[in-house]
Amino acid sequence: MARKQYRVEIKYEWCKSCGICYHVCPTKTIINKELGKPVVLDHSKCIGCLVCENLCPDFAINIVEMKQETDTKSDDKKAKVGVENA
Ligand code: SF4
Ligand code: SF4
Repeated sequence: MARKQYRVEIKYEWCKSCGICYHVCPTKTIINKELGKPVVLDHSKCIGCLVCENLCPDFAINIVEMKQETDTKSDDKKAKVGVENA
């Protein structure tokens, strides 16, 4: 089964560039790009640990779990089976 995928959403209007998120991120998904501003270049590196979201003092980070493509396929399969049996 494929690993879960996450999207790191940062509300820059709430962020004060304190640097906590990119210092605690174990996979370096969030990095310090310029002037202390957190940036995510590759969302696929995120493992969904939520450390950044929980430690951001300004609630500026939201980790969103992406819908799995494999789940969609199995749902489609179930739907088809349901139609055939109806
Ligand atoms: S921890 Fe929050 S406030 Fe600090 S740099 Fe990261 S997003 Fe911005
Ligand atoms: S949830 Fe974990 S891996 Fe993902 S960006 Fe935040 S600290 Fe990094």
